[in-house]
Amino acid sequence: MSYNSAFQQQASGNEGFHLPIGGFLKQSFSDYPGRVAAVLFTRGCNFRCVYCHNPELVLPDLLRHSKPYEVKGILAWLLSNSSFLDAVVITGGEPTLHPSLPEFIRQIKSLGLEVKLDTNGTNPQMLEVLMSEKLVDYVAMDIKSVLDHQKYASVCGECFTETMLDAVERSLALLHEAVIDCEIRTTLLGSHHTEKDITELIRLVRIPYFLQECNSLKTLQAVVGKKLGREEIAELMESLEPKGGNVCLR
Ligand code: SF4
Repeated sequence: MSYNSAFQQQASGNEGFHLPIGGFLKQSFSDYPGRVAAVLFTRGCNFRCVYCHNPELVLPDLLRHSKPYEVKGILAWLLSNSSFLDAVVITGGEPTLHPSLPEFIRQIKSLGLEVKLDTNGTNPQMLEVLMSEKLVDYVAMDIKSVLDHQKYASVCGECFTETMLDAVERSLALLHEAVIDCEIRTTLLGSHHTEKDITELIRLVRIPYFLQECNSLKTLQAVVGKKLGREEIAELMESLEPKGGNVCLR
């Protein structure tokens, strides 16, 4: 049996295998550094970030109006197009909420594609499995604010618990020790992140760290108060001590 037909057989046996996918971008040049990647968006999230630009993947009322993509169809498409791709980016929503994620990634890896995972860091157990089994080649994790329950909850909603804060800290520690490519990102809001917070964050993160502006026209909640634009963030980074050689503006 050829490799492809073996995979097709595997893919067609996946009717009972559910990873709820709510969005699919066939080709992206910007979601995985240096790679041409397909991007899959999983449905559902345990956060409610003020600036979330994918509320249709997060809010149950909006999710009710759409149907998940067929996993089988997506795997079949990836199989047919794997020679045009280097990688698959799995983002969300929050992909690590879904216990079927490792199995899904195994299927992608069997096509010879690299995998980048975007996560909010609330499932360190799954991160550990994915990294130890070499199922991910790149992990990008969001840090929403300094590691303080109230501050974090002000960005990602009242659903944020102390347990989640511990989980985020554990995920950050895992990424600090990881042997694969990893990055941390923070979207800055003038209303939520003070200069002191940003300085503390820069001290906290020891791997590539990207500060980014909130530039979405569509957000989960109305973003009120002062926004921080790219120029302001750049000026702020210039004025801060420590500068942090690992910190970039995105
Ligand atoms: S921005 Fe926040 S609410 Fe939106 S998908 Fe990411 S973690 Fe979830």
